[in-house]
Amino acid sequence: MIVIMKPGATAAEIGAVIRKAESTGAKTHPIYGDNRTVVALVGDLTGLTREIFDQMEGVLQTVRIQEPYKLASRTTRPDNTVIELVGSRVRIGGNEVVVMAGPCSVESRAQILEIAHAVKEAGATILRGGAFKPRTSPYDFQGMGLKGLEYLAEAREATGLPIITEVMREEEVPMVAEYADILQIGARNMQNYGLLQAVGKQARPVMLKRGISGTIRELLMCAEYIVSNGNYNVMLCERGIRTYETATRNTFDLNAVPVLKETSHLPIVADPSHGTGLRELVPAMSRAAVAAGADAIIVEVHPDPDSAVSDGRQSLTLPDFAALMQSLRRVAAAVDRSVADPVHARVNA
Ligand code: PEP
Ligand code: MN
Repeated sequence: MIVIMKPGATAAEIGAVIRKAESTGAKTHPIYGDNRTVVALVGDLTGLTREIFDQMEGVLQTVRIQEPYKLASRTTRPDNTVIELVGSRVRIGGNEVVVMAGPCSVESRAQILEIAHAVKEAGATILRGGAFKPRTSPYDFQGMGLKGLEYLAEAREATGLPIITEVMREEEVPMVAEYADILQIGARNMQNYGLLQAVGKQARPVMLKRGISGTIRELLMCAEYIVSNGNYNVMLCERGIRTYETATRNTFDLNAVPVLKETSHLPIVADPSHGTGLRELVPAMSRAAVAAGADAIIVEVHPDPDSAVSDGRQSLTLPDFAALMQSLRRVAAAVDRSVADPVHARVNA
C-alpha cells in the first residue's frame, strides 16, 4: 500500500503516517518526489486498512500496489529516478543518455589507462572494466582482483571518468565499494539474494544485470531486494537472455527497455555487447536501445579485441567506438534526447 500525501503536507503529518504504520510492524519507505511525498508501506500490513490513513491529516489518498515489486514500481513513484554520482556531474535517468565504455576485463595498468583516455576522448562518461570476473570455466582468467580496482581508480584520477565494476561476493562489497562509483551485479548473480541485500545496505549506486534466464518480473523483484534494504540508486540492465537462437550469443531483449520504463521508475541501461556477443552487431543495437528509451548503454571496447583476455569477439575497437558515439548523438537527437558529455569536473575523485 502507498499513502499519497497532499502537496505541501507537513513533516509532522508525514511522521504521523510513518508512526501509525510502524506501530503495527509494517516497514515504511518515504519517497520524496518533485510534486508529492508518498509513504510506501511494505511487509506485514495486517490491521492496516486504507481507511485508517485516508482520514489522517495531510493524506490525499491511499492506493494498494498490486505488483510484488512495490518500491521499484512506477505506481509508487511516477517520476523517473535520476541517479547522481557523488563527486561528479554524471546523472543517469535524466534527459541525457549516458555512455559507459571500457574493456570486459582490466588486463593491465597500461591497457585500462589507454582505454580510459580513448573512450573519454570519444565521448564516454563512465569507464567500465571488470576486476572480478564471473567466468564460465574455472580455468579461464578470473580477473586482476584488487590490483584491477587500483588501476581503475588510477584511470579515474587520470581522466575524471567515474568507474563501474562488478562485485561478485557479499564479503567483497566493502572493498569494491571503496573503489567503484557504481557497483555492477552480474547476470549470474541477479538472484544472489545475500549479495543483493549487501549492496542494498551500502551507499554506492548499483547496476543490476538481468539474469541469463531471468524474466523482467524476476529482475524487478531482485531490484526490490536492493531498494527495500535502503539503496534507491538502482539501475536495471538488459544484457540479453538465453533462447533457442544461436545466431547471436544471447538474444538482446529490446522489449525489456520500454516494458521496464512503463513498470518501473528506475533508470534502464542496455548492454548490446553481451546482448549480441558480436562486435559487428553492437553499433546497430546500441542505436536501437537509445531509440527505444534506454537511459544509458554499456559497451565493451578494446584496443586489440582479438587479444583481449575476455569477450574480445564482442568488443569494439577504439575507432569503431568513436564512430558509434557520433551516430548515437544523432539517434538521441531524433528522440529528443542528447548524449551526455564527458564530465571534466570531478569534485572529489
Ligand atoms: C560483463 O559485464 O563483463 C559481464 C560479465 O556481464 P554479464 O554479467 O552480463 O555476463
Ligand atoms: Mn564481458
